[in-house]
Amino acid sequence: MENAMITMKNINKGYMLGEERLPILKDINFQVNKGEYVAILGPSGSGKSTLLNIIGGIESYDKGEIIINGAAMSAMNEKQTTLYRREHLGYVFQFYNLIPNLTVKENIEVGAYLGSNPLDVDDLLHTLGLWEHKDKIPSQLSGGQQQRTSIGRAIVKNPDLLLCDEPTGALDYNTSKDILKLIEDVNRKYGNTIIIVTHNDAIKLMADRVIKLRD
Ligand code: ADP
Ligand code: MG
Repeated sequence: MENAMITMKNINKGYMLGEERLPILKDINFQVNKGEYVAILGPSGSGKSTLLNIIGGIESYDKGEIIINGAAMSAMNEKQTTLYRREHLGYVFQFYNLIPNLTVKENIEVGAYLGSNPLDVDDLLHTLGLWEHKDKIPSQLSGGQQQRTSIGRAIVKNPDLLLCDEPTGALDYNTSKDILKLIEDVNRKYGNTIIIVTHNDAIKLMADRVIKLRD
């Protein structure tokens, strides 16, 4: 479909445990349209991170097909997969993975080098509420401010697709809500497609759609 960013068709994934195959993802089918903000919910161990990593081209899958912006992932060679990750994909993790001796602004600029059409860093610092903190290093920031910085680093290359794996997992309830709201603002302002895994209930009010994974 023309409007589809991601189409998952009968995706299956398991891990070998000794002689036995432990199925993790069974016949996953869904579509995420361009510009959508979609949440994935599911209990711990249900395969949420595995699913995001498959979409991100970081993990392989056993069966099925993924179509990314019209292109079948199975047809991409290693170089094309790397290019897809670098040019079109942003990733936000639970633990911020910032570079400790770089400032907020410099950490965000690291992301800008990766894309061919980066956003204006100063403008982004304002959007993220980080303008007053731009010259601080990560150890001088709160958890929420560190996560804002890592969102900035992921979004500055203006990726078509932003994958967020429990970005609020290390934050308190209210800071989490602020971060989810910020991701919603990013989605509205820049139009990126966003897939987020989170346990925070507030997501139900913000996301366009919720996809549930069962145990
Ligand atoms: P979630 O993010 O929903 O908590 P994960 O995707 O991290 O779940 O993991 C799903 C299941 O797959 C878990 O039971 C986990 O133990 C298992 N798993 C994940 N990675 C591996 C691996 N490399 N080898 C074997 N089992 C794994
Ligand atoms: Mg996980």
